[in-house]
Amino acid sequence: MDQVSWLRRRKPGIKDARKREVPDGLWRKCEVCGEIIYHKELERSLWTCPKCGYHFRIGSTQYRDILADPGSFVELLSGIESTDPLGFVDSRKYTDRLRDAKEKTGLSSAVLSGSARIEGRLVMLELLDFGFLGGSLGSAMGEKIARLARMAIEERVPLVTLASSGGARMQEGILSLMQMAKTSAMLARLHDEGLLHVVIQTHPTTGGVTASFASLGDVIMAEPGALIGFAGPRVIQQTIKQELPEGFQRSEFLLEHGMVDVVVHRKELRATLSKVLEFFSDDSRDEAEDTLDQARKQGL
Ligand SMILES: [Zn+2]
Repeated sequence: MDQVSWLRRRKPGIKDARKREVPDGLWRKCEVCGEIIYHKELERSLWTCPKCGYHFRIGSTQYRDILADPGSFVELLSGIESTDPLGFVDSRKYTDRLRDAKEKTGLSSAVLSGSARIEGRLVMLELLDFGFLGGSLGSAMGEKIARLARMAIEERVPLVTLASSGGARMQEGILSLMQMAKTSAMLARLHDEGLLHVVIQTHPTTGGVTASFASLGDVIMAEPGALIGFAGPRVIQQTIKQELPEGFQRSEFLLEHGMVDVVVHRKELRATLSKVLEFFSDDSRDEAEDTLDQARKQGL
């Protein structure tokens, strides 16, 4: 993460404490303020720094535990995995990279998809995982996202997407880019069916993922300080040859400019999501209609 801009916004002139060495395991050092945090405490604070609020990057299973009611998540579509249609090799074989990512994360692809309950409400939930090849959008992810959206349509339940991605899966070339169109088309159907899609953008949400499904939410929430954009700040700066504004492409900046609806601390994610689901649910619509009916009857 670009810590400099985070620091600037949080506390001007703070000393960079990154030189302090910490043994692995029991303790973690905050990448921003240098605070040494006991592992258990970090877990309790949902991997956010108790001192400065910095949000550590976490994986899809951690987000699953934060968002879904305990034990309610049922994984779906886990059999859909990436293949290597181009026989792609850069410094390493794509198939080797895939195998390593699977071993490292225990996931079959860069998105964990399933059904879950959030404070009792049934949703389709998909969680991107940056730890799996940068959460990049390949054909497997595209297929899983399109199919989960279709399941949400069939079941008439909301779809919740947690985004965390560096963008398109370069190793799949044009096939990766096609996933942007595929996922967007299926989400358009979800929208036509009058069903809710909530997106939570986390650090980082960039490239083709931002340019497709991660921006196609009816409600877009973002974690504080997350980098959200299409091209990175350096590329933009080099292209337009102009100094970029303070906090450019961060959640708070996007909130100010209308691209994000609400910036939510990780500890509040579940409660906020639940409120949004309730607000758009049929029973709250029924309630609102009842209130309106009563008001009409009373001649108000
Ligand atoms: Zn900190």
